[in-house]
Amino acid sequence: MSLRTDAVNHVSHGNITSPDIKGAKITGVFGESVFTLKTAREYLSDEAYKSLVASIKGGKKIDRTVASQIASGMRAWAESKGVTHYTHWFQPLTGTTAEKHDSFFTLKSDGTAIEEFEGAALIQQEPDASSFPNGGLRATFEARGYSAWDPSSPPFIIEIGNGKTLCIPTIFIAYTGESLDYKAPLMKAVESLNKAAVTVCNYFDKNVTKVTPTLGWEQEYFVIDEALVNARPDLVQCGRTVFGFTPAKGQQLEDHYFGSIPERVYAFMRDFENESYKLGIPLRTRHNEVAPAQFECAPIFEEVNIAVDHNILLMDVMTRVAKRHRLVVLLHEKPFAGINGSGKHNNWSLATDTGVNLLAPGKTPKTNLMFLTFFVNTIKAVHDYADILRASIASASNDFRLGANEAPPAIISVFIGDYLTKVLNDVESRVGSKFDEQDEAILKIDLHRSIPELLIDNTDRNRTSPFAFTGNKFEFRAVGSTANCALPMTILNTIVADTLNKFASEVDALMEKGDKKEIAIMQVIQKYIVASKKILFEGDGYSEAWHKEAEKRGLPNLKTTPVALDAMVTEKAKQLFKDNGIYTHAELEARHEIELEKYIKKVQIEARVMGDLATNHIIPAAIKYQNELLKNVNLLRDAALPEKLYKGQLTLLKDVSTHIQQVYENTHAMVEERKVVNNIENSRDKAIAYEAKVKAQYFDKIRYHVDKLEQLVDDELWTLPKYRELLFLR
Ligand code: ADP
Ligand code: MG
Repeated sequence: MSLRTDAVNHVSHGNITSPDIKGAKITGVFGESVFTLKTAREYLSDEAYKSLVASIKGGKKIDRTVASQIASGMRAWAESKGVTHYTHWFQPLTGTTAEKHDSFFTLKSDGTAIEEFEGAALIQQEPDASSFPNGGLRATFEARGYSAWDPSSPPFIIEIGNGKTLCIPTIFIAYTGESLDYKAPLMKAVESLNKAAVTVCNYFDKNVTKVTPTLGWEQEYFVIDEALVNARPDLVQCGRTVFGFTPAKGQQLEDHYFGSIPERVYAFMRDFENESYKLGIPLRTRHNEVAPAQFECAPIFEEVNIAVDHNILLMDVMTRVAKRHRLVVLLHEKPFAGINGSGKHNNWSLATDTGVNLLAPGKTPKTNLMFLTFFVNTIKAVHDYADILRASIASASNDFRLGANEAPPAIISVFIGDYLTKVLNDVESRVGSKFDEQDEAILKIDLHRSIPELLIDNTDRNRTSPFAFTGNKFEFRAVGSTANCALPMTILNTIVADTLNKFASEVDALMEKGDKKEIAIMQVIQKYIVASKKILFEGDGYSEAWHKEAEKRGLPNLKTTPVALDAMVTEKAKQLFKDNGIYTHAELEARHEIELEKYIKKVQIEARVMGDLATNHIIPAAIKYQNELLKNVNLLRDAALPEKLYKGQLTLLKDVSTHIQQVYENTHAMVEERKVVNNIENSRDKAIAYEAKVKAQYFDKIRYHVDKLEQLVDDELWTLPKYRELLFLR
């Protein structure tokens, strides 16, 4: 029996594992495994607690003695929950999370066994970092990096089986100070944005002392039976299928979208949601997506730093919990050709410490102008740095999705809806006529009441935009489902910070020349609207017409990662990141190198997996069928039947033989090409060659012939689970 038949049989006998969930109310478990401030209050002395709060709220440093008190409070809490080990939890540039567990258990010098957790161990750890990507930042002879506690993200307990580990969120840095992870730059960007946004807010409201970016992500994913996945080496190794013929029933009926959730998946969802609630992840929605076996979940938005941790944690929790249900979660952007891929919309806004959402239209003329200021500055930022924003979402896997008719194209544009378009046009139309007191009319535009209904009308259309205004936030939709949101969020917050700083300088300059504040602000807003007009697009982003139009406008359309990444290392980028204190030149070069290497490895692995499957699965199955046909034809010929009675078999034989030969030839040619490409020294050239000479040249071609064979060969002989099985059996 083949692995495929075995897997298919397994599914049909699959039982539903009901999760063991105590209590019905979410509030009963929410945050139970998190060292929240409320918990901290119970376990810490006044001094330690105050110090922790000051550090979380104001970024104040915690000294070592207080850190020791905090550490023992954390340990006491963790031990009360059955925790034996702790780990620094960080987000290296591999794209996953890293942990190295240490036990609280230790021996004193006289051999007495005790449990302890000291301040020093809380604050800093030295994982042997030589195996994490560093892009050449650390020579291997001093392959040292350290992880440093980030008090702004609360510690939490991860349960695996019966084992429980206290996880301390940390940033990861080289001894020389360069950051080696996704979190450290994000925190710098958040700080940079805070400074810039507070300055601009203070034109309108002196009470604002802190502005925090907020993020609400929407995670799409596929859920597939474990046995079926295990019978597909490509899914196991690449997270996507490299072959597979789209079934007769795909997603054309769209009957899956918002349909009832299959019971087995529902049990899994409730289980991972419950685990997520314990970890303080405020999941709010769940539903079926458009593609069969595709789903989505989204939390209530949070401060960006926490939201990023929660997303990466959720991906981990989902993956682990799925195993209990004999399911596999596919987070890849494009697990199945011809079927919608998965994204991770990043809903982003700015919140003040006075409780105002800066991207929500105001209720008074003054707050309206504040809204317009942040709104237009965001558009200007996206306009000026569209290439860098594009680079922030570039990855080998997202390349399969962007522009593939279900996701925004690689062209960055901004959708704002009819009403705001009118508002901006109105402001723009006054170019030349200086704003004066009479223009109160503009300041009084009733944004608050008019926007919501208008946007609701437009929701369908703006689904095709990579960066859309959705009433009280922007939604960055080009982010891929596997991405760590930290990177796009670092870039977005940095470019907005940079733009706001420039905005403030221009406003100040006009005010020094004697302009009234509001008038000065309107002048600069107008200037920015004119300057960034070409980034605004309200039409269908999926259409061919838009590609043409974008080209006319001079908007870049970089479809592949190796070239999209160039934007990270231009003079413009270096200046931007230096001015805002996010990345040094060395860090930028290192990250560029790491991303290129990741790309190369991903394509390399896929090419190998393709080769293996073609050689060990496809060709052998096809040859068996070819032999059967041959036997059959020979027997018929021996029986002296007229050839017109087995013309069908002859054609089949010819077709099968042609496709076998094509698969064979192209697979071999691809191997030869890889050998050539592997000799290229420069990473960028190598990545480009992997894209153009290996992927673009061979992937589709080999797949075409394999998928043809899948349609021709006797189903009994086909060893890989087919799309119809992967997508519909559970
Ligand atoms: P939809 O489902 O139509 O896209 P929702 O209002 O449900 O719109 O929001 C989707 C996501 O946007 C959710 O994660 C939500 O928490 C988030 N969101 C809402 N307001 C904000 C905000 N001010 N900042 C960041 N994210 C937000
Ligand atoms: Mg949305």
